[in-house]
Amino acid sequence: MERYDIAIVGTGPAGVSAAISAKIRNKKVLLIGDKDLSKKMRQAHEISNYPGFPKVKGEDLAHAMAEHLAQMEIAITNVKVVNIYAMGKYFSLQTTGETFEALSVIIATGVMPGKMIDGEEGLVGSGVSYCATCDAPLYRGKDVIVAAYGKEEEKEAVFLSEVAREVAFFPVYNGDPSEMPGNVRVVREVPTGIRREGPKMVLETAQGSYETDGIFVLRESVSPGALVPGLATEGPHITVDRQMRTNIKGLFACGDITGRPYQYIRAAGEGNVAALSAVEYLS
Ligand SMILES: Cc1cc2nc3c(=O)[nH]c(=O)nc-3n(C[C@H](O)[C@H](O)[C@H](O)COP(=O)(O)OP(=O)(O)OC[C@H]3O[C@@H](n4cnc5c(N)ncnc54)[C@H](O)[C@@H]3O)c2cc1C
Repeated sequence: MERYDIAIVGTGPAGVSAAISAKIRNKKVLLIGDKDLSKKMRQAHEISNYPGFPKVKGEDLAHAMAEHLAQMEIAITNVKVVNIYAMGKYFSLQTTGETFEALSVIIATGVMPGKMIDGEEGLVGSGVSYCATCDAPLYRGKDVIVAAYGKEEEKEAVFLSEVAREVAFFPVYNGDPSEMPGNVRVVREVPTGIRREGPKMVLETAQGSYETDGIFVLRESVSPGALVPGLATEGPHITVDRQMRTNIKGLFACGDITGRPYQYIRAAGEGNVAALSAVEYLS
């Protein structure tokens, strides 16, 4: 398998900045994220604190960053990373597509919006899954629940409906879901808890309890503790030092995922530091 020098997870200002600096240092870079870069960046109506771009629209700043990546021939691999494993001398990145390998990794996934569902974290890999592509085969002919935190996750529910017997779909976002296949039942309730009862899983809402075989919790980002086993975290943030090093050798983090304030320029600055630290680690 092709092995990269630096895999960067996330395409907001932190990940883009890290990719640019790593490429300038002639490293073989894998940039994983969203082909549209970052929803948060595009949502900003007007940004007044990014030096050199007064009153820039988020959409325009994102466009300028995408142009910069294209000019430097840095491609975006448009998948979601669901697990990162430290294998000793390299890292293995499991994604909703293929698996990748890299000598070092920079996590720039932004901060996960909202809270995890009560009981979710302890059951990841044991009835709770973050990846339909990876785990759908486990539920062939069985029932699953999908808690979807974005409209874009609907396609994952449709994919699961081709494998599972029945899908109970909980849309935790504004707006109505698009039309779903016949074996997808839409439940407009907000998940509040997850527990295991013998071989079955149970999802709770304020209105009731729903028994199933497996629960898919699908969000734009995965909580850092669930992403990397053994990673030191403080609440929703990854613990780093001033060089953006985590407690795991060769693993760095930058941007909103490392803490407040949540700002573009801080994210971009930390991306630069993380890339240079990864370069130093590799040498
Ligand atoms: C409406 C709004 C207005 C704002 N206005 C301002 C402002 O005026 N000034 C300012 O400084 N800041 C502003 N911010 C804050 C700013 O958007 C964030 O601080 C900044 O985007 C953080 O950058 P980041 O790179 O850390 O993460 P993000 O921009 O959140 O990017 C994270 C990226 O990682 C990807 N990702 C996440 N998980 C995974 C995974 N598991 N696998 C693959 N990819 C993954 C996501 O898809 C996303 O592309 C605003 C935010 C919002 C929402």
